[in-house]
Amino acid sequence: MHAAEVWHAEGDRVRCDLCPWRCLIAEGHTGACGVRRNTRGTLEALTYGLVSSLAVDPIEKKPVFHYRPGATVLSLGSVGCSMRCGHCQNWQISRARPEDGSPRAGRLEPDDVVASALEHGCPGVAFTYNEPVIWAEYVRDCGKVCHAAGLFTVMVTNGYITTEGLDYLGEHIDVWRVDVKGASERAYRTLCKVPSPEPVFQAAVRAKQQWGMHVEVVTNVVPTINDSAEELRAIAAWIAGALGPQTPWHVTRFFPYLDFAHLDPTPIPTLREARRIGSEEGLDFVYLGNVAEAGSEDTVCPSCGAHAIVRTGYTIVEHATSGGACRACGRDLGIVE
Ligand code: SF4
Repeated sequence: MHAAEVWHAEGDRVRCDLCPWRCLIAEGHTGACGVRRNTRGTLEALTYGLVSSLAVDPIEKKPVFHYRPGATVLSLGSVGCSMRCGHCQNWQISRARPEDGSPRAGRLEPDDVVASALEHGCPGVAFTYNEPVIWAEYVRDCGKVCHAAGLFTVMVTNGYITTEGLDYLGEHIDVWRVDVKGASERAYRTLCKVPSPEPVFQAAVRAKQQWGMHVEVVTNVVPTINDSAEELRAIAAWIAGALGPQTPWHVTRFFPYLDFAHLDPTPIPTLREARRIGSEEGLDFVYLGNVAEAGSEDTVCPSCGAHAIVRTGYTIVEHATSGGACRACGRDLGIVE
């Protein structure tokens, strides 16, 4: 048994304080994520060290464009999630439970993660595939040994975390790649069965301001749910105001899937409109994802218009920055190299 942290006892039940559900869990039961169980009055982290998926990916695949461009990251995930998104691409693991059977990749101690990253020549490690917040104890232990070995760490997260949870992880995470699924309660309720985006907003701001993390935002644009000009404008305005105009916003194309199989794919003009709205709201870098649109993933200097980084898919084909600034004019692009 691996004892969880970030919880407290309430009588003979335990209250998990890791994510905003703050589940009150009776003996023998798990919280909403299915991976944290009250075992004789102690909260147990059932998935500690349990790895369902392991791969070496370009950091651009997360997507993260402004942190160590071109780096590979050892990417790993477990099972379970704190949300229930109707269009989850990884539902086989996000909706799985630890008792469902042995995950394919098996068990890895944090030192094994570092060894594997070094063996594959990866300068960083990404916690991804399922929701890493609910894996917090393992992520923190991995983060510690990663930093000790000189590796950076990335959370690919839905961002649904309490202040206590974020502060538990804060010093061990370098990149907060967060989904912002909407700016309204309606969008969050419809897409992922969560009552409000507020905790996601608060955590992203704290990740940047309190912990100095590099933050990038992804919005998967789903027709009829979060694709209105008002919703997209509200997201963009929040990013620009709360996180700053240099924060990359990745606007990605939705494809019909799972509970939302009846919807159409996101029309390309909607994505272009999102990019236009993002620019209007002051964002310097709006990227389109899941779409073959020439130039839509390039980093263009907002000052001189030079193509500072040219990408094709996950591959960088031209890289004209120096110390995170445009090589042509010297403008800081907010890129960590
Ligand atoms: S991490 Fe899991 S158990 Fe803890 S509050 Fe969130 S959903 Fe509940």
